[in-house]
Amino acid sequence: MYKQSSLARVLREMEYRLFPTLSFEPVERVLYYFLFARTHLAGLRTVRLSLPQIAKATHCSCFLARHASLLLRAKGCVRASHSNKTGSLWEVSLPRQILGPGRRRAQLRRSAFDALDCSTDRLARLAILRRERGFCFYCLQRVTRNAMVLDHVVPRVRGGGSSFRNVVACCPECNFKKRTRRAAGFLRDIYRSGRLTAAEFAQRLAALTRLARGQLRISLPR
Ligand SMILES: [Zn+2]
Repeated sequence: MYKQSSLARVLREMEYRLFPTLSFEPVERVLYYFLFARTHLAGLRTVRLSLPQIAKATHCSCFLARHASLLLRAKGCVRASHSNKTGSLWEVSLPRQILGPGRRRAQLRRSAFDALDCSTDRLARLAILRRERGFCFYCLQRVTRNAMVLDHVVPRVRGGGSSFRNVVACCPECNFKKRTRRAAGFLRDIYRSGRLTAAEFAQRLAALTRLARGQLRISLPR
């Protein structure tokens, strides 16, 4: 068990270093504290829990619990392993282990976002739609949020990932026509067909580069 003084130190490191450095959302704090209490404070290294059990104990929906656990895992704060019907084995890393001397804040935040699968995580999908602000990423036509579809810029069959660096929102027509083609060639076709001006074409090519560099970021709702 923790001595009072070392517990106070760990809590201070959470509040003043870990949470602000990794931009914890409120639900992430709740889950992290909960799992910390069930492991470290209980003198255990791991605890077996299912997501519905965690959601019930923390008074949040299964959807939010899953979302928070995904972020916490991506940030290296918790690990879930050996999953079976009764849940996963959860292990909690302490702030000093997470914020080791060699790991910079920007790197940590980047790796957390890179780990989000925008094709399956609902909040990440919504964040991509919001980033495009109602315009198709390719042809720049306005399209309603309900009609927008997600597209892998580098297709999955070509090894493209599902992070925000490779997923955009576009109109159904562009999604259908592009298929497994390379994005730059597809944009050239749109330009030649007159649907993009020369300036828009150049701007779209630049957007492709910025996307791949991770500069077209998404922000998850708090
Ligand atoms: Zn389009």
